[in-house]
Amino acid sequence: MSENILVITEHLQGRVLDITYVMLAGARRLAEQTGGKVIAVLLGYKAQSLAGDFNAEAVHSYDRPSLEHFSPDACLRVLEAEINDEQPRAVLLGHTTLGMDVAGGLSARLNLPLVSQVQRFDGSNFVCQICGGKIMAEGPLPGETALVTMVPGGYRPEDGRGQTPPILEKQAPGLEGMRVRLSHFIEPEAGDVDIAKESVLVSVGRGLQNQNDLETIERLAKDLRGAVSASRPLVDKGWLPTSRLVGKSGKAVKPKMYLALGISGAPEHSEAITGSDLIIAVNTDPNAPIFNVAKYGVVMDMYELIESLSNALEQEAHAA
Ligand SMILES: Cc1cc2nc3c(=O)[nH]c(=O)nc-3n(C[C@H](O)[C@H](O)[C@H](O)COP(=O)(O)OP(=O)(O)OC[C@H]3O[C@@H](n4cnc5c(N)ncnc54)[C@H](O)[C@@H]3O)c2cc1C
Repeated sequence: MSENILVITEHLQGRVLDITYVMLAGARRLAEQTGGKVIAVLLGYKAQSLAGDFNAEAVHSYDRPSLEHFSPDACLRVLEAEINDEQPRAVLLGHTTLGMDVAGGLSARLNLPLVSQVQRFDGSNFVCQICGGKIMAEGPLPGETALVTMVPGGYRPEDGRGQTPPILEKQAPGLEGMRVRLSHFIEPEAGDVDIAKESVLVSVGRGLQNQNDLETIERLAKDLRGAVSASRPLVDKGWLPTSRLVGKSGKAVKPKMYLALGISGAPEHSEAITGSDLIIAVNTDPNAPIFNVAKYGVVMDMYELIESLSNALEQEAHAA
């Protein structure tokens, strides 16, 4: 057994995903308690340059052509061997499509406890979301080795960046006979606006009461020199195209300002906005989970705020 923390890093098409840095930041906090090291585990093919800024004591790299794209079978085999080798205190995976795919399998194969949707560590306790993010639960890490899936929101990705850690090349176990292989990527359809590149987003959720109100939102976004984005219910209703969807099934966004109007902040939405410089949330429910990721929160009817804000912007435009 060791007190080390393994972080299963994620990357896609040559880019490290933010959840990797969030996990590295979380692992650092946890390692301070356990007295162990942070070890980043990198699966891929010719992907070692991606590890250059990981905040970790070491990188364990598994470099094989069959690991170029995510395959749950391959990932399971490699991680099973890695965990058996390292006997770490905890293994952090993203609460993402990839992480959720392998965490359950690892837990079953290795008979290890799994804590899901962990947002942060408080001492050596985990703090995780339950009931769709409405309740935070806290407890000690179970077992000798605990598997943990992490959601964004508890740590800033910047804190997961550091100096170039040493890379240890490790031999992958046999990867023949994989049942699942990537066939091709399906890119989201190109829309009129690329919300991932906008510096101001006015984002609306189910708090918007009818489709006609979108005109007011469009006007507000224009006055703020930004674009309109949305949570999933509005896209499901067909009020806005999929290209405007923020979240797990839409796009991750990194605007300078993200104004969330009538959005509850479900994990599938929040995970895609934590890269924003500034999040402002407006919601009638003071306990809405969106306030956990927002820098400024306003508990009020979004319609009242829109009216005051629009009036203020209009006055400013006249004064200029
Ligand atoms: C596999 C999967 C993938 C998903 N992918 C995504 C995704 O990519 N993006 C996404 O957004 N969701 C996604 N979801 C759905 C997600 O779980 C939530 O259901 C969704 O984000 C909720 O949207 P919402 O916050 O607009 O609605 P709700 O959760 O219904 O919240 C509406 C909020 O508006 C507030 N409100 C109501 N009226 C007002 C008012 N007048 N003024 C101010 N506040 C008001 C309420 O208090 C409430 O907090 C996914 C779910 C699954 C299972």
